[in-house]
Amino acid sequence: MEDGRPRLRELPSVDEVLARPAMRALAGRVGRTVVKVAARQAIAAARERILAGAAAAGELVPDAEVLARAQRETAPRLLRVLNATGVVLHTNLGRAPLHEEAIARVVEVASGYSNLEIDLGTGRRGHRSAAVEPLLCELFGAEAAHAVNNCAGATLLALAALGSGGAAVVSRGELVEIGGGFRVPEILSQSGCRLVEVGTTNRTRVADYAKALDMLPAGTRALILRVHRSNFALVGFTEEPEIGELSALSRERGIPLLHDLGSGALQLPPGLPEEMTAARSLREGADLVLISGDKLLGGPQAGILLGRRDLVERCKVHPLSRALRADRMLIAALEGTLQMYRQGRGEELPAQAAIAATPQALRQRATRLALLVGEGGVPCSVVESEGRVGGGSVPLSRLPGSGVAVEAGEALLEELRRGEPPVIAILREERTVLDVRCLRDTDLSLAASAVIQAWQRTAHHPAGRVEDGQNGAKLGGSPALPGDVRDVDPLTEV
Ligand SMILES: *Cc1c(COP(=O)(O)O)cnc(C)c1O
Repeated sequence: MEDGRPRLRELPSVDEVLARPAMRALAGRVGRTVVKVAARQAIAAARERILAGAAAAGELVPDAEVLARAQRETAPRLLRVLNATGVVLHTNLGRAPLHEEAIARVVEVASGYSNLEIDLGTGRRGHRSAAVEPLLCELFGAEAAHAVNNCAGATLLALAALGSGGAAVVSRGELVEIGGGFRVPEILSQSGCRLVEVGTTNRTRVADYAKALDMLPAGTRALILRVHRSNFALVGFTEEPEIGELSALSRERGIPLLHDLGSGALQLPPGLPEEMTAARSLREGADLVLISGDKLLGGPQAGILLGRRDLVERCKVHPLSRALRADRMLIAALEGTLQMYRQGRGEELPAQAAIAATPQALRQRATRLALLVGEGGVPCSVVESEGRVGGGSVPLSRLPGSGVAVEAGEALLEELRRGEPPVIAILREERTVLDVRCLRDTDLSLAASAVIQAWQRTAHHPAGRVEDGQNGAKLGGSPALPGDVRDVDPLTEV
């Protein structure tokens, strides 16, 4: 320490840190592995400080720093967040929240043993989706049903079981990317089906399908696949056959008509434009319809296959069905959700309630939040805010509602994201807006204190970044995270 500044060679080793009495006590509580990781991080941080000439006098790797890092290491990473985006089925935020009765079913079934694969009547081996199949058939008006892990999986399974080695005829207007890497042509090739494109991007007629089927070599296995466009709309000079017309053609040719529908509403909340539903698709003649559990249905992540018994059976016994099987928590939550519909209480499901919330009720909720935030000394105002359904459902519809705007931009948005609980808000015209559509009334005081704390943190560190004295350019601040709401158009990711 010739010039009085700490040197790299004065850094302690990991073992030296671990040998300190306080650290030994810490290891007794959280385990040696965690303390080791924390010690390594703290030493690396101290090295950075030395190299930057920023190391303070005294202990280079203080116990308190190791302790703080150990606490961070043991804290959960998957957290509950408050969704203040106004997007109800936000894929990045976990889509539909579960109803408390569905959660109660999960807790009951998952905390002990269950009759997941045993028939209590006969004592023989049963099927794990038996708990939901009758409910699905009754509610959707389907002959048979099967539940797997998610809808992308259901689509892959159906294509593999019913079309592998054959041709899948799809309109060029439906070769979509749903998000998260789900691209229809790629799923088709994974399933072993050969894609036969028909029509054009904007117009496809039933005659296009017929012509393509005519051109297949005799005896070729084939199916028709209809894909819901989910996250975008085709408007203008467009044409596509009705399900009924495609069904007539597929029946005439003796091949199945599959409908990858994605967002499968059982009931559409009032005020939404007419959407194709699974029940209607089946009524109009689709042989097999595939839907998600956590979109408009408002349940857990799941892929639900609905339709003709012989086709559902073929899917059930396919090896992919085992690979994609639903776990007990999914089945329990799905059963709990379906029971809500069966009891005529579908509108109580959180996603349904959030979509159906009236502008007046949302204005009241926003006013309550603004009062709480204002009491904490944060200047804010109630503003109009348009929400969306999200999850690839009714992409063009806007849901009129309200939010609370705070006169602070990105720095506040970032602090809110890092708060406890994290709040995901929106940046609009340099202001932070909290859309209240997806906040429960019981969340409001929590949201308000998160805003107040985030505001105080940004106030102590103006704008949360270092300004360059010469030209005012931004030097510090964190780069935008990929999950930042302002970067993610909720419609691009389903
Ligand atoms: C959302 C969607 C999927 C994927 O569903 P996951 O449950 O997320 O796997 C598949 N197809 C369509 C048409 C969709 O909208």
